[in-house]
Amino acid sequence: MTDGLVIAVDGPAGTGKSSVSKGLARALGARYLDTGAMYRLVTLAVLRSGIDPADAQAVAAAVDGVELSVGHDPDEDRSLLAGEDVSAEIRGDAVTQAVSAVSAVPAVRARLVELQRRLSDGPDSVVVEGRDIGTVVLPDADVKIFLTASAEERARRRNNQNVAGGQADDYTAVLADVRRRDHLDSTRTVSPLRAADDALVVDTSDMTETEVVAHLQDLVHQRAGARR
Ligand code: C5P
Repeated sequence: MTDGLVIAVDGPAGTGKSSVSKGLARALGARYLDTGAMYRLVTLAVLRSGIDPADAQAVAAAVDGVELSVGHDPDEDRSLLAGEDVSAEIRGDAVTQAVSAVSAVPAVRARLVELQRRLSDGPDSVVVEGRDIGTVVLPDADVKIFLTASAEERARRRNNQNVAGGQADDYTAVLADVRRRDHLDSTRTVSPLRAADDALVVDTSDMTETEVVAHLQDLVHQRAGARR
């Protein structure tokens, strides 16, 4: 019943967006596209070339030469740079620190948005995860979901992840960082983070991952039913 649907999942970090998007793709038998991984791949290429991520002109000049590829399978989303598997490296601190600057460069967005549209096209259903999917990349998506959670809850989740990964337990600092990035993301001029007017906003603060996936599946089925 849900074949051929395009589902956009947007929202800030800490809402469980990646796990939920993969879970939804799995439940629907859909392909999965992680657009954040694409921005991270370009950022890694920039860093490896010795380009300053803050040098927008140099970043813009480099983006066309980046040979990137991302997986379509929610259970095997490998990210490749010129054929090399860099799935772990793109999640590291160096890339995470630099990715906001690189993704704010208009030439980077232009190239990746075009690629994202191409990769989302096709007869199968696809779940596309990002920040501007429902607003800019795929404004005609069949279902648009915008995940939110309170800043406190997102900070709590991230601080727990940090502690599990061996970093210091510092909820106050993490919360300040979450608030700072919310402000930057929602006020930047290129593709600010906001819900599309026709997006279904889902607050995940008090929901488990399983509950969110089940809820999104219901929303998709309702929309798919309404479309026919
Ligand atoms: O989702 P993830 O945290 O991996 O995204 C990494 C970064 O890529 C985000 O912080 C954001 O700066 C950028 N991004 C974006 N547009 C998207 C996806 C990600 O600007 N559609």
